[in-house]
Amino acid sequence: MTIIAIDGPAASGKSSVSKRLARRLGFSYVNSGSMYRAVTWELLRQSVDPLNPDSVRTSLDSMELGCGFTPEGESFIRINAQVPDAELKESVVNNNVSTVSAIPAVRHLIVARLRALVNERDVVMEGRDIGSAVFPDAPHKFYLDASPEIRRLRRAAEGQTDSIDLRDKQDSSRAEAPLQVAKGACVVDTSHLTLDGVVEKISQLLAVAGLHPR
Ligand code: C5P
Repeated sequence: MTIIAIDGPAASGKSSVSKRLARRLGFSYVNSGSMYRAVTWELLRQSVDPLNPDSVRTSLDSMELGCGFTPEGESFIRINAQVPDAELKESVVNNNVSTVSAIPAVRHLIVARLRALVNERDVVMEGRDIGSAVFPDAPHKFYLDASPEIRRLRRAAEGQTDSIDLRDKQDSSRAEAPLQVAKGACVVDTSHLTLDGVVEKISQLLAVAGLHPR
């Protein structure tokens, strides 16, 4: 199976680019951040303190986390028999997800699910550590970036309350699988590119590497 890893900081354009690229190539799309968001959402729903790793670990022991694909080829998440969607973008989730995702037990659970997901499909998977830790041998790795000002503007335009500077700082400084440019990744600065422009650029780089739309 072919894996295209797309990592980068918050609001660098990963989701829009990954979705569109997957559609163009005929691949499935996986948003790994949604899994960290789903676990965070469920912990908060159970009133578990994200700052208490022992409580988080205890809650994980009985957490049923599943994921699969819709007929359109997009991944979905089921957590304790619920399928959260818009809830995953709530401010309270934005504010706690980086704390939760720094806990190794949370990462181990989600990484195992992500690895199992690609068994039968070609995927474009976006996240923070896909090229560096989840699939270090992925043949195609990209790291999307944009200036902090532009990323803040993009997030505000989506109408979200999201302290992206703080999240990036937490995500980059955690001990396990921090946000970083993976070995062998191609860095794409999206600051002054349109969505189509970024997809086009990545498609061209993939074509040079021998990967063409089906
Ligand atoms: O991509 P998104 O902004 O939705 O990710 C939410 C959070 O999930 C990130 O800020 C990060 O803390 C965590 N995350 C992670 N590793 C990934 C994807 C997301 O730690 N591969």
